[in-house]
Formats: sequence, C-alpha cells, structure tokens
Amino acid sequence: MLVGSHLSIAGGMHLAVQEAQRLELDCVQVFTKNQRQWKWKPLADEEIKAFRAAVHDAGWHTNPERRLVSHNSYLVNLASPDAEMRAKSSALQLQETERCEQLGIPSCVMHPGAHLGTAGNAVDEEAGIRRLVTELDAIHRSTKGYSTVTCIENTVGSGTNLGGPLEHLARIRAAVKNPERVAFCFDTCHATAYGHDMSTPAKAKSFWQSFESVVGRAHVRVIHANDSKGALGSHLDRHENLGGGACGKSCFATLAHMLVFRHVPMIMETPKEGKLRGRDPDRANAAWLRALALAMFACVSVTMLGGCRPWAKSDAELTAARVGAVAPTAEESDRLRRAQSVADRGDYQEALGEFRALLTENPRLVDVQVAVGSITLEQGDIRAAQRSYEAAIQADPRNVDAHIGLARTHLAAQRNDDAVRCYRQALVLAPTDMRAIAGIADALERSGNRSAAIPFLERLAADAGADADAWSRVARAYLIAGRAAEASAAYEEAVTLGEVSEGTMDGLIAAYTAESRFAEASSAGSEFARRWPSAAASERAAWLAFRAADYDRAIVAYRHAAEQDHRSIKAWNGIGVCALNSWLLSDRLDGGAREEARRAFEQSLAVEPAQPQVEKLLRTYAP
Ligand SMILES: [Zn+2]
Ligand SMILES: [Zn+2]
Repeated sequence: MLVGSHLSIAGGMHLAVQEAQRLELDCVQVFTKNQRQWKWKPLADEEIKAFRAAVHDAGWHTNPERRLVSHNSYLVNLASPDAEMRAKSSALQLQETERCEQLGIPSCVMHPGAHLGTAGNAVDEEAGIRRLVTELDAIHRSTKGYSTVTCIENTVGSGTNLGGPLEHLARIRAAVKNPERVAFCFDTCHATAYGHDMSTPAKAKSFWQSFESVVGRAHVRVIHANDSKGALGSHLDRHENLGGGACGKSCFATLAHMLVFRHVPMIMETPKEGKLRGRDPDRANAAWLRALALAMFACVSVTMLGGCRPWAKSDAELTAARVGAVAPTAEESDRLRRAQSVADRGDYQEALGEFRALLTENPRLVDVQVAVGSITLEQGDIRAAQRSYEAAIQADPRNVDAHIGLARTHLAAQRNDDAVRCYRQALVLAPTDMRAIAGIADALERSGNRSAAIPFLERLAADAGADADAWSRVARAYLIAGRAAEASAAYEEAVTLGEVSEGTMDGLIAAYTAESRFAEASSAGSEFARRWPSAAASERAAWLAFRAADYDRAIVAYRHAAEQDHRSIKAWNGIGVCALNSWLLSDRLDGGAREEARRAFEQSLAVEPAQPQVEKLLRTYAP
C-alpha cells in the first residue's frame, strides 16, 4: 500500500517531495502552479531540475506512476457551455499537462466540470460530457506521445457538476479517442458525499463490485483517501481526518486490502493544521491507514492461531517452560562451527560424528540438536530428525529453528496437519519468519486447506523479493476459492514479473473467464495457443473469441484446431456454428459461409454420427 499526501509547493516544488520523505510517505500530490489563478509562468529550467533531482534522491524515479501525482487548477471547466470559458479552460488544462510532462509526473488529476444547465437533466449532462470529451481529445492530440495520463476524479455531484454517478466516469472514458490517456482518481470523501455507501464491509464489497462492472478498478490510477465531514448523500465536499467522518472504517479497510490497488498512490487531502493525536496530522492519518493494511494479516493470523490455542503456546508460557537450554562454551562454539563447515562441505557423516560427540558431553546444546536434525532430515532419516528437533524444543521451547525443523520432518512424512501446527507455533514466536510463512502455506495447501493458505500466500507475494511464482501461487489459491477478480489481478502481476509459464497463462485465462472478461480471456487464449500449440488450445481460444463476440477470430482459431486434429468434432462444430452465424449476419447473402458451415457439419457427423443437434442445424439451415 502506498500512502501519500497533498503537500504544499511554497518555496519550490522540490520541497514537496522532500517533505513527503520527512513524513515517511510513499508518494505525493502537488499543484504545479497556483490553483486559483488563470495565469501562469512557464516552469524555469532550475525548477524542473530541482524537482527531478529531489525525485531521484528519494529513489522515486524508477516508478513515478506510483509516486507522483499532480492536481489541476480548480478553475478548469471543460464541460462548460460557454465557448470562451471552455477555450480558457482548455488552454489552462493543456498547460497543466505540459507541466506534468516536464516534471515527469505521470498522473494529472482533473474534475470533470459542470454542465451549467439544469441540475439532474440527462440531456444537459450528456451535452456536458460531450463537450468535455471534445476538449480532452484536443488536449491529448496536441500532447501526442506524452506519458501524462489525465485522471478524472469522481465528485460529490453537487449542482450541475458531473462525476457523481459512476456512469459519468465510464461514459467519458468510453467516448474519448485516446482512452490510454484517460484514467480515474477515486476520492472516498466525494463518493460517500455523493451517496456511494461503503460504510460496512458488505456495502463496500457491493460498491466495488458495481464499480468493477461499470468503470473497472484497473483504470483507477490515483486514490484520494479522505474522510467526509458531510453525511452520506449530503453532496458536501468537506474533507475530514481518516476515521472521523461518514465514510466508515470499512471504506478504507476495503481499499487497503484490495490487491489491485496495492501499487496505486493513496493521497490524503485531509486537514493539515495543528496536531492530530499529538502528531503531525499527515503522520497520524498515514499511520491509521497503514494499520488497516497490517490489521488484515494480524486479524487473519490471530483468528487462525486462536483456533489452535490449546496447542500453540504463548511467548510467555514458552519462556516459563524454558528449562534445559544452555549456551555453548567458547570451546564448544568452536567445535560447533568446525563441524558446521564440515557439513556445509557435504561431509555429513563426519559432521554428524562431531555433533554427536558434543551432545554426549553436553546434551543440552540446542543449536547442536538443531544441526543434527537438519542433517538427518537431509539424509532422509525422518525419525532421527524428529527426535533431535523434539529434544531441542524440549530444552528451548522458544527456538524458532527447531519448530520449523520439526514442521519440515512432519511435511516429509506427509503429516500435513502436524506440520501446520508446528509452523503456527513458529509464527507465534516469529510472526514475520518467511520460512515459516512459506512452510505453513505449503502445508495448508497440501492438506487441501487452500483458502486458509491464502493470507500466507499473500504475505509471500507481497514480500519485496517476490517472483512470478509467488504471485501465480496466490492467484491459483484465489481462483480455487472463487475470488476471480483478485485471481486475475495476481495473475496479471505474475505475468508482468517474468517469463510466463504455461500454468500461469492457463490460470489467467481461467480467471478472466470466471469474471466473464471474455475479450481479455480471448487475447490470452490466442497467446496461449500460439506459445503452446495444440488442438485443445486452439479450441479454447476459439470458444473464448466466440464468447467475446469476435467471430472472425473464432472461426480462424476453429479452423486451426481442425487442422491440428481432423477428428475433433468440437473444432468442426465450431467452424459450422461460426460460419452459419456469419451467413445469418450477412442477411443470408454470403453463400460461401453457408457452404463452409455445411461442409464442417458433415465432417463432424462423419466422425461422430450420433449428434442430433448438428443434424438438425444442417437440415434447418443448409439442406
Ligand atoms: Zn480533486
Ligand atoms: Zn480529491
């Protein structure tokens, strides 16, 4: 999760980046000029240089789209019916875009403006949207090749302002000529004040479901995390500290937990004056927001760990039980180190001999027990390994390595439930131990408990060094748990991270299909068939293209499948149906298509005569 704030540029734009650093924020939003004035001074070279240097010093230059946001001037109204006002607005918005590009700011937030007709009148709204789209197209045309994306912000929808209903946002993006230059900024305060209710987990979930189907979460490039002083549906645009307004905690918790937003800058436009809970308000609000993201994992782990309390002992209990461990003497440490390096060379027998000699003299050397456990486990002697780890735990119940080692012996013996218990015990002691997190995820998956593995898989994927496999794994778990949207997002992450495997691509297609995103599923399906050709892959690509209503692509893929496997009735029937379809779409004028359908159905019946439906199609349409 990336938390930032709208910060002042007084004294120089670069100071905002430095201030964000001082406040330990992940991202920042700025005005690139006085937001209440029509006039502007071009940016001086030194200003640009200083800003870019500050961004570089912060290490933000590698992923500026996650770090830097600009907010345009409040005066701009591209939806205005007044031609002069519109021209002025357009010139100013063009300048906003130019400045972003010069500064390397990839997102420029803009309000959609007001149509100034009759509030709520659908015709006036449509006219306003059309004017806005025309101006946006002109701006994007004259800034061709720029990387700055215009992010239309949702609004409280007061008066004749556009952008309250989600449909407005969707219609704007659907109408522009360069949709790749248009994305959205989602403001939680504006949404709540408009009347979008996210105040309980169920309401937040249902809101985001409709957002997904109307607008698409993937097009949200900036989030404004503000609470609302005004009540739900009040149409009042007054920002409040997080947790103190009408949005509700679940509004923010849902944002914090959605995987698709994990790299989207969340900018707080909350009050900056005075102190909040004794701290700088930005720090206090950021801490509140970040705690929600952490709470997700803590909450899940506590529930899970709570379920096995009789077994998993608390830290204090373990400390009290710690009876037999002793630290090795200097001489023992020396021998231990030597034996360890012998083991590292791969000479297990010699190392074991030395370790065991040490234990005979002093059986309470826990590190030695753990070392013996790891060697014997490596050698496949599960019983011996288990004995060593258990002895180590008995001497020092707080030894994380011993709990993890014991878990591994259980895994090796396919005692998955026992392994889960041991990993949980390790996690009580060391909640962030990645070996334990990876291990418990593994053990839960193997014991068929896939949905319980999800929070741990999420942790692995969220780790800084996570690779495509980690994402692919969590994606598969989501998919099996029926969480298709999250599965798609995680698979997409896996695809962007590295060499795409057959399994990942397969999962991505399944996730898109489960979400009924057939256009994307179809592209992925074609790509799959190209990389890993088979009749089955071509058939799937064809079926997906058909579902996406891309009949030309579908029939080509079915023909390909029939070439790959002459006896595939699915392929022949697919060709038949597609060809018949295009004959019907041609008002029955395309005789060639009907002929192709006839031949395909006949081929199919030659392979498998017992297909009454195919026979019926043939009789009805191509007698
Ligand atoms: Zn705004
Ligand atoms: Zn905002």
